[in-house]
Amino acid sequence: MKNIAVIGAGTMGNGIAHVFAQNGYKVNLIDISQKSLNQALATIAKNLDRMVAKEKISESDKNDTLQRINGITDMKEGVSNVDLVVEAATENADLKLKIFSDLDALCESNVILATNTSSISITQIAAVTKRPENVIGMHFMNPVPIMQLVEIIRGYSTSNETTETIMKLSKKLGKTPTEVNDYPGFVANRILMPMINEAIETLYNGVAGVSEIDTVMKLGMAHPMGPLQLADFIGLDVCLSILNVMYDGFKKDKYAPCPLLVNMVTAGKLGVKSGEGFYDYSESRKAETVSKQFS
Ligand code: NAD
Repeated sequence: MKNIAVIGAGTMGNGIAHVFAQNGYKVNLIDISQKSLNQALATIAKNLDRMVAKEKISESDKNDTLQRINGITDMKEGVSNVDLVVEAATENADLKLKIFSDLDALCESNVILATNTSSISITQIAAVTKRPENVIGMHFMNPVPIMQLVEIIRGYSTSNETTETIMKLSKKLGKTPTEVNDYPGFVANRILMPMINEAIETLYNGVAGVSEIDTVMKLGMAHPMGPLQLADFIGLDVCLSILNVMYDGFKKDKYAPCPLLVNMVTAGKLGVKSGEGFYDYSESRKAETVSKQFS
């Protein structure tokens, strides 16, 4: 494999493109939004600068990496002649089904179509293609250049060959792949999201404020980041989508999203990417808690 297409240039897509390009792959980074593409390329350059400053890579490694990434808004052009597609567009089932049905028509039948979905059924996504054996979950963690894990999710029809190829590829990227089966939320989010949702519920019930909840989990449970801060980094819209997939998939109340989370997403408070979530990320009030209204 040499040429990769990454679809979606948001929080995850830019990190996935960064890691592939840094490991020598040519990457077409595809997004319907030119603004997202510009932001992604700027973020990748900034993250590479940080690695140069820490002497993890040289200036010429940085330039080579950037040269391997091509930002494109046209999917047809972006996926022609690639060996692998990694889809990292918005967490929405209808959108992903449409993208995979288009990809199936555009890519040669031997091209592996991977999705970075956090929770949506790989089997359902694979079913809209004529190559379900070549469809797989390749779930990178945020931030992609730093986090070690790639959760590899086998759909019902994913072949051993596809799984092995993606496991090997993940290792080539310097990651540790872990194979799991295809049920809502897989493993990572099935365990993480109920905790985040419970932290939001704790805030909603007035038990404690934002920084108090995060401090308890950071200092008491040795988590590197509190659950509310983590939710802001993931994106509150992404958290809500994942919880809804698990709620629909298991029909269990324990996955029902907290009304406060629903309200915040409706109000456009999505966390880091929108400048405000449980914390304020605007330049003037960076990381200042906006919790007082809830506590
Ligand atoms: P995001 O909202 O930051 O970015 C999504 C991007 O997809 C946007 O730039 C949008 O313009 C683009 N997009 C939408 N429709 C498109 C289309 N038809 N073609 C091309 N691009 C399109 O989302 P994100 O947080 O990067 O999440 C992307 C995927 O990764 C989701 O499936 C999510 O569940 C998963 N994921 C997210 C995290 C996280 O921490 N945010 C972690 C692991 C996996």
